[in-house]
Amino acid sequence: MYTPYEIIKTKRDGAELSDDQLRYFIKGYSKGEISDYQASALLMAIFFRGMNDREVTSLTRAMIETGQVIDLSDISGCKADKHSTGGVGDKISLLLAPLAAACGVKIPMVSGRGLGHTGGTIDKLESIPGFRTALSISEYKDILKRVGLVMSAQSEDIAPADKKLYALRDVTATVDSIPLITASIMSKKLAEGIDALVLDVKVGNGAFMKNPEDARSLAKKMVDVGRMFGKKVTAFLTDMNQPLGNEIGNWREVVEAVKLLKSECDVHDVEELTLHLTSEIVRLCFGISSGEARDMVQRKLKDGSGYEKFREMVAAQGGDISFIDNLQRYPQPKVILEIRSKESGYVKSINTYRVGMAAVKLGAGRIKLTDCIDPVVGIRIEKKVGDFVRTGDLIGFIYGNDQERSSAAYAEVESSFEISSEKPGKRDIVLEGIYSE
Ligand code: URA
Repeated sequence: MYTPYEIIKTKRDGAELSDDQLRYFIKGYSKGEISDYQASALLMAIFFRGMNDREVTSLTRAMIETGQVIDLSDISGCKADKHSTGGVGDKISLLLAPLAAACGVKIPMVSGRGLGHTGGTIDKLESIPGFRTALSISEYKDILKRVGLVMSAQSEDIAPADKKLYALRDVTATVDSIPLITASIMSKKLAEGIDALVLDVKVGNGAFMKNPEDARSLAKKMVDVGRMFGKKVTAFLTDMNQPLGNEIGNWREVVEAVKLLKSECDVHDVEELTLHLTSEIVRLCFGISSGEARDMVQRKLKDGSGYEKFREMVAAQGGDISFIDNLQRYPQPKVILEIRSKESGYVKSINTYRVGMAAVKLGAGRIKLTDCIDPVVGIRIEKKVGDFVRTGDLIGFIYGNDQERSSAAYAEVESSFEISSEKPGKRDIVLEGIYSE
């Protein structure tokens, strides 16, 4: 028989927690038998003391056991998913899921909402009028069977302990902890019933992991946990030292993704990261070479079959397709502000955290859990790191629905740009890969 007090004290003093202690605490918290204040204390103890590999695996397992593991064995083919640790302008899932499905992989994707300064796939999808993300398990399976992909919010059935702990971590400054992020992401993903997983571990000034060493150890932990559960997992460290693509904000990101799927625009970093991550899913599932997988994904992008899959998925989940077919139909923001460079030189850096926070304050994210998202608002980044600008050149736009918030976002984004006379070195979007096999 354990007590929450003893478990908190054990971790506070830097000792290991047993599998049974972790199971007892997580189960008790999930059922409401252990309070938020005791769970907060344990989270903070884990934040400072860390966890060894066995503890992280046990914590992940205990979190999975609070819900059910979805049985997808009656659905043929390889089931795979992708998860990002969170970034700014990260709309990759909107492209990757339909492209991988067009290649024949089944994608049962469970995604999250925005967290802190980062955006969330579910908030983006919900900007499409009528789109439903709260699906029962039978609907989820039915759409997966019919369309080959489904994009759902985390339900009460999937790792409910993570849902509760995630909300608590968001308000107790315990998000950026490697064991807690590992257990949070892997519990959700392993409960989906997938065979393979690709992880996008963001690193840089717009990510939870600011330096490559922390990002690498997070990536290794997640790959190790996936391997322990018998899954094929690859993690990539990817650059988050500037927003991904040009658009930030929920509907704005859907538009950028749709235009890319229709080959109507050229956004190099989004396209490159999409091709890289989608090819890895295809490689893991079909056992072909990386080059063959990339060729297949590129063909599905060029011939429009990724776009057709996206439309099919939107329709299957109740979304109004007319807004996808005619992107101009969407309501327009009331305030549009042009941001112009105050000096000449190369864009040396963009403070991506501040750009993400500016988007949140405009209404694209939540400051309090109960805040409503404004799907229309956002930011367009016109110049990226390495681009040359002259004084007065356009570097971005603010799209708001409120003058005061828009002016505040303007000041924040303008001061996020650092201009220098020296041209910064070229940077890759994908920095390194860590493989389970
Ligand atoms: N994404 C998650 O799902 N969980 C975390 O803890 C952080 C990012």
